[in-house]
Amino acid sequence: MLIPCLACDSKFRPDEFFEACSDYNRGMDLVSWTCPCCGNRDDLRVLPGELGFGYPSRGRFDVLDRVRVPGLRRQRGELRLDISLDRSSWHVPSRLRQPV
Ligand SMILES: [Zn+2]
Repeated sequence: MLIPCLACDSKFRPDEFFEACSDYNRGMDLVSWTCPCCGNRDDLRVLPGELGFGYPSRGRFDVLDRVRVPGLRRQRGELRLDISLDRSSWHVPSRLRQPV
């Protein structure tokens, strides 16, 4: 199972891919991802069994491309997103966007 960068077509193992996730936007349900190869920054949605790539528009996120990742699971937390696949898991922290 390899996950592609949609910008440069490099392919990554899940551990390489999910370690490059940096910021969970809980409101939009998106994680930021920076390609370790080409530096492209993308937003994607982690869904059960797949990843959704797309573009934000008018306050929503439209998923245009889906990449199947069999067995992928997610758990939304208050301040982070937990992603798990097989026996591995990754935690993507939320950035606090609105300091009081
Ligand atoms: Zn890339």
